[in-house]
Amino acid sequence: MKKLSSYRRIVVKVGSALLVERGGDVRGAFLDSLVADLADLRQGGAECLVVSSGAIALGRARLGLASGKLKLEEAQAAAAIGQIGLSRAWSEKLQAHGIHAAQVLLTLGDTEERRRYLNARATLTTLLTMQAVPVINENDTVATNEIRYGDNDRLAARVAAMVGADLLVLLSDVDGLYSAPPAQDPSARLIEDVPAITPEIEAMAGEAGSELSRGGMRTKVEAAKIAVAAGAAMVIASGHHLHPLKRISEGAPSTLFRPQGTPASARKAWIAGHLEPKGTLFLDAGAVRALRAGRSLLPAGVTRHSGQFHRGDTVMLLDPEGTEIGRGLVGYDCEEAARIIGHKTNEIAEILGYVRRSALVHRDDMLLRETAVGEA
Ligand code: GLU
Repeated sequence: MKKLSSYRRIVVKVGSALLVERGGDVRGAFLDSLVADLADLRQGGAECLVVSSGAIALGRARLGLASGKLKLEEAQAAAAIGQIGLSRAWSEKLQAHGIHAAQVLLTLGDTEERRRYLNARATLTTLLTMQAVPVINENDTVATNEIRYGDNDRLAARVAAMVGADLLVLLSDVDGLYSAPPAQDPSARLIEDVPAITPEIEAMAGEAGSELSRGGMRTKVEAAKIAVAAGAAMVIASGHHLHPLKRISEGAPSTLFRPQGTPASARKAWIAGHLEPKGTLFLDAGAVRALRAGRSLLPAGVTRHSGQFHRGDTVMLLDPEGTEIGRGLVGYDCEEAARIIGHKTNEIAEILGYVRRSALVHRDDMLLRETAVGEA
C-alpha cells in the first residue's frame, strides 16, 4: 500500500457507525482524529473530499426513535434533523484547523444525468480550488426509494469518478475484503491487493441479495468497480481506531483495489467510447492551435455549429478543412451556442443574459486526436 500522501485528490467515505454512537451523539474524539489526518494530507498538498454518513443515525438518536427499521418518511425526517448536527460537527472540527467545510447534498440524478453532473462537478471542483473540504451526503430528506443511491459507498465512488479523484477510501467497521466471512470461517484471510475485480473477487463479497445491511461488502465491491473504472484506486479499511487514515499509511490491514489507468485517461476513454455525438462545432485555425496547446474551446474560436445538442452532450470538433480533431462535452445548449459562437467571452453575459461557463468545451471535457508528426 502506497502512503496516502502520494495521492492528489482523495475522497474519504465514513460510515454511520463510526461517526455516531448507537443512540447517542457524534463520536467527537474519532472525528477529531480523522479531521487531523485530513488536515495532514492537505498539508502535503492533497485535495480532500468527505462523504459522510450518519444523518439518519444521528437524527433517530436525537428523536429517541426506537430501534428497528424506520418507515421511509421517518428516515427522511430523521435525516433532516441529523444532517444539521452532522454538518455542524464537521464544520467545527475542520474550522479548528482553519479549514472551511462545505455541505453538499446530492441525489441520484446529480451523478447520473449529465447536465446536473456537470453542475455538481463544477461546484465541487470550485470548492476545492477555494481550499474548502466538501462534506457530502445523499439528500436523504428528498430521496425516495426509486431515486436514491441508498448507500454511501456507491455515492462516494460516483463522487470520486465525478471529480477525477485518484483515491477513494472507504472507512467502515471491517479491515477489508476477506476470502470468506471471517465470523463464520476461521480460515478466512484478508485480501490485501486486488489488481482486478474478477468473478472470484465478486463471489467473496457475497451474493447481491444475501446482505441486507446497507453498506455491506457487496456495495463496497460495486463501489470499487465504479472507482477503478474511473482511474481511482480504492481502499477499504477499518475506522475502529483513532487516526484511521494515518494508520492506513502506516500499514494497518486494508484492501487496495488497483485503478485501471488514471482519472484523466478514464475520462477521455469515456468521452471517446460511450457517447454518441449529438452535434458538431466547426473551429477556426486559431482555435485548433489553442486546443492543441491544451486550452479550452471558447465561443470566439467557433465559426458555426450543426446538430441538436444539449449542455453535457458530446459534440465533434472539426478543423477548417472539416477533419475531426476531437470530441468533447459541450457546455451550452445548441440554441445558446448559436447565439454566442464567434463572440468574445466577455460578450456572453450581454447576449444570453447569463453566463454558464466561459468555455464552450472545457479542456478537461475534451479528447483530442493524436496529430501525426509534423502536422499542426
Ligand atoms: N445517507 C445515509 C445517512 O446519512 C447513510 C447511507 C449509508 O450508510 O450508506 O444516514
